[in-house]
Amino acid sequence: MSNFFNTKLEYLRGVGVQRAQLLGKELGLFTYGDLIQRYPFRYLDRTQFYNIVDLHDDMSFVQVKGILRGREVIGEGPKKRLVAKVGDASGELEVVWFKGVNYLEKVIKNHQEYIVFGKPTMFNGRPQMAHPELEEVTEQKAGQSFLQPVYNTSEKLKNYHRIDSKAIMRMVSDLLKIALPQVTETLSPALIQQYGLMDKAAALQQIHFPQNQDLLDRARFRLKFEELFYVQLKLLRQKDQRKVTLAGQVFNEVPTLVHFYKDIMPFDLTGAQKRVIHEIYKDFLAGKQMNRLLQGDVGSGKTIVAFISMLMAADNGAQSCLMAPTEILADQHYQGLKVYANQLGINLGKLTGSTPTRVRRELHEQLREGTMQMLVGTHALLEDVVQFRNLGLTIMDEQHRFGVAQRSKLWQKNPYVIPHVLVMTATPIPRTLAMTLYGDLDVSVIDELPAGRKPIVTVHRYDANRLKVFQFVRDQVALGRQVYIVYPLIEESETLDYKDLTDGYESVSRAFPEMQISIVHGRMSAEQKDFEMARFVNKETQIMVATTVIEVGVNVPNASVMIIESAERFGLSQLHQLRGRVGRGADQSYCVLMTGYKLSKDSRTRLETMVRTNNGFEIADIDLKLRGPGDLMGTQQSGVLDLLIADLAKDGRILTESRAAAQAILNDDPDLARPEHGNIRRHIESLPATAVNWSRIS
Ligand code: ADP
Ligand code: MG
Repeated sequence: MSNFFNTKLEYLRGVGVQRAQLLGKELGLFTYGDLIQRYPFRYLDRTQFYNIVDLHDDMSFVQVKGILRGREVIGEGPKKRLVAKVGDASGELEVVWFKGVNYLEKVIKNHQEYIVFGKPTMFNGRPQMAHPELEEVTEQKAGQSFLQPVYNTSEKLKNYHRIDSKAIMRMVSDLLKIALPQVTETLSPALIQQYGLMDKAAALQQIHFPQNQDLLDRARFRLKFEELFYVQLKLLRQKDQRKVTLAGQVFNEVPTLVHFYKDIMPFDLTGAQKRVIHEIYKDFLAGKQMNRLLQGDVGSGKTIVAFISMLMAADNGAQSCLMAPTEILADQHYQGLKVYANQLGINLGKLTGSTPTRVRRELHEQLREGTMQMLVGTHALLEDVVQFRNLGLTIMDEQHRFGVAQRSKLWQKNPYVIPHVLVMTATPIPRTLAMTLYGDLDVSVIDELPAGRKPIVTVHRYDANRLKVFQFVRDQVALGRQVYIVYPLIEESETLDYKDLTDGYESVSRAFPEMQISIVHGRMSAEQKDFEMARFVNKETQIMVATTVIEVGVNVPNASVMIIESAERFGLSQLHQLRGRVGRGADQSYCVLMTGYKLSKDSRTRLETMVRTNNGFEIADIDLKLRGPGDLMGTQQSGVLDLLIADLAKDGRILTESRAAAQAILNDDPDLARPEHGNIRRHIESLPATAVNWSRIS
């Protein structure tokens, strides 16, 4: 779009410097372009009038037309309210106001016809509306019908500066008048024709002020299509470019790997593990840099795949590192892999925030000299002082904890040949989201659990039944099992959660005086955590009381019971992750979701889903539908949140179509050099450099 859209909002009629500043600060609106792209988040249906008799609880905002048949002020002080009756031919509606009573009493008139707009609720079988909008029916308004846009604003703007949704609506309306002639088409004529798209200017007009539902739908489709098209175009170009340009080390020797397979590995790989290893191996042979996402449900055995990949690197004289998001997890990987490494004569090191300086120096030196082949650690291994002789492979476990910037930091650890990258995640990502989040990565999936695993039995229990649950814990411990009891951790209120946890710990200690109990939470030092964790791993303690710090990756096969307190406070993916801490051994495992009686509809859906299925992909899909992609792990750093209008949870079909369209265009004209792609090329060139980065890494 032209420079016009970079004009500062203060120049818009009636806005001025002060309001422009507020809009910028409170809503992130600075320019004409920002405002015109701040689409309404919903619309009020002012196209039709309902009969009062048809109103019911499930309706959202609706309007009726009727005569005011009487009003009175009832109650005193804070209970004071104005109650009025509005009637149409079908029935009567009671309307109530608790605020502005004195003012309203003066202005509303008996026997006047009004349009009443609000959300109906039923009370003793009779319809009511609290705080509806009221508008006199006048000659000129009689025939009007429209969808009225509603814009997000902030409490501060609304209450202190009178910038409410309607004020924004007026600004947008003023802006559209001068802006529409400046709008240029951003999609090619062929695309517009093929997908029957509305043109850009019309879409902008209709998205703000739709004449009817049909035009609104078409405007939405057009804008969503465009948005997803450009996201996919960018990702596909990155992927293609990298495939062409970036060389990767070839790992074709596998002597140690064969020895490991034959003599050391304690189990047979699952078919899915074998397939994924083969995909990775093919990448290693290709001479191009690998960028692969490995998705596998909790317990599907990703670690061994990581280790085998690292062995391939070592067999070819390259170093590798495995980076975990927490110290506990890094340590666990280290302990687990160390056993194999020792048998194979491989030098494997561990580097975390709590590694003592002396050890650190030694590590640094071995890495620089190349005498250490494998390194496991936390983000500490990103530090600049950590240099490798020849880093050939970097693996990130539980990727959602790492930012994109960290990803690229690892790339820089080898100045000669960029290391292969394997990103592992147990958070199953629905296909639509994966396409956008990781559109530039190749994807492998482990969709099979090792044989002999019994599906975890999940139940929902109310707090009132705690005694029974505790008895169950006692029985399981008597059978030699171990138990997790997890308390929620909400970042906004760490103090409160800490109290929940310590209260919980005390009551658990009282309930099980005969048992040893570990406790792990975010306020403990790394050493304390490790100490407590180690006691649990070594079976010195039977119960582990913890916050969600144990969520990721921790592996204690003998722990077979997971009790989640206040389960309604956890997101679905998080519940699934936590449940994945059990079911890792041969014993039947259980997950008990504890809640009070009072539950929201969404909470119920989450709990029912957990009870019904163990399938991470199904859970991820439901989670995406419940929460939208904004809250899903991994989306924060992805730019997916920057989507203006498309919704990855709902727009899967448009995403697929726009991706296919982008791919077809790139196949045909990789540099977008043809005249018929002029609109697309110009649009990309007009975007700020940060928005579309054509260089090789996101
Ligand atoms: P995740 O994918 O959640 O990271 P892990 O790699 O921690 O899973 O594996 C979970 C457990 O399953 C570990 O104890 C691991 O040793 C074991 N395991 C992995 N692959 C197999 C297999 N093919 N057969 C049996 N056990 C396996
Ligand atoms: Mg893992």
